[in-house]
Amino acid sequence: MKILYIITALAIGLFVLWIGTGTQTAETVTTNAQSSVQFDIKVLLIENATKISFKSGDDYRIINCKTTEVTGAIGGDNFINISIDNNSIKGGFRNYNARHVILQPVQEKPFAINDNQTYRGCLELIINPDNKTMMVINKVSLEDYLKGVVASEMPSYWESEALKAQAIAARTYVLYIQSRFGKNRKWDVKATQANQMYKGMRSETMRTNDAVDATAGMIMSCWQQDWQVFPAYYSSVCGGHTESTENVFGDSFETLRGVDCPWCRMNTKPSLFYWPDAVYDKKTISDNILAKYPALKELGTIDRIETAKQSIYSGGLARTTSVKLTGSTGKTGFLRGEDLRLTVDSTGTKIQSTCCTIISLKNDVLFISGKGFGHGVGLCQYGAREMARQGNTAKQILDFYYPGNRIKLLY
Ligand SMILES: [Zn+2]
Repeated sequence: MKILYIITALAIGLFVLWIGTGTQTAETVTTNAQSSVQFDIKVLLIENATKISFKSGDDYRIINCKTTEVTGAIGGDNFINISIDNNSIKGGFRNYNARHVILQPVQEKPFAINDNQTYRGCLELIINPDNKTMMVINKVSLEDYLKGVVASEMPSYWESEALKAQAIAARTYVLYIQSRFGKNRKWDVKATQANQMYKGMRSETMRTNDAVDATAGMIMSCWQQDWQVFPAYYSSVCGGHTESTENVFGDSFETLRGVDCPWCRMNTKPSLFYWPDAVYDKKTISDNILAKYPALKELGTIDRIETAKQSIYSGGLARTTSVKLTGSTGKTGFLRGEDLRLTVDSTGTKIQSTCCTIISLKNDVLFISGKGFGHGVGLCQYGAREMARQGNTAKQILDFYYPGNRIKLLY
């Protein structure tokens, strides 16, 4: 396993090195790639499973990540149960005598877990410190990972230039997240909207796979003292203007500035572009905020929530970027608009965006006159679709939503 870590570290190292020098040519990178640098992504599928079922049609290796000992197992049509027994992982009747294993199909065929969810790559299992649950991780090549993402993030029947733009944005995003956070944890990204939706092979379609293949190795970089990879955020419907990232996520990138988006309005159903008013009980909101942000406990119970800062755009669009909270102790605190939204509605499907009016009543808080869907930073997916419909290429779409970006080839 150490070897695997070293290869991954080497890959990241070369990648960062290359990104850090804007003058290097694509040929140099190709040479690096040819020395078998492979970009693998570790996707956290389940954070704390007590057991899973597993099936590999192909024979597979069981790699003990501590001792690096490798043993073989015969695949088949049947699922086996994998659970934790006496602080080690057990598959079927066989105890692997390890807290950390990789199950790797020998011929690199897909494997399946729970209810026939199929994945490419291999399966990594790590017992958590509680000794009762384990992390279930899919280690998969970057391009195969993207096949499971693009198909989960955008309808496969959308225009191919939109799908390609999505693939390049998703590739850029995951490499940034991996280089920024991956070193300090055992996985790179979650399989949920916390990062990017990833459903493995079961979501794949020919059209979305084609979009990944057609853009293989393409990523965007932006100028931050040198050319660097950046978190190429994207969201569903911006509502008419995308938002600068510092107002939503607190980070700052030249290419993630808000732009006027005339496109999404043209092809988004009114029922998605405008969302129904949402009402939440103030006490529940207060409890949720204080549980998630303990520093705000000095406010006591939160009595009042009001917009403190907005980005105001033409066409009557106003996005709340900061809210002021007033508590029963008389003290006040602030939260980013997006943080409030996801604290009140963790699915983000009722309060679809922060482009809305917030009204504090006696017992309730209203979120009304809402527009758009998602955080609004970076590429607007419905806008990208409309741009593609009107004949724009993936590059033109990316240049519009990530102004000043430069596309580079990883391999
Ligand atoms: Zn838009």
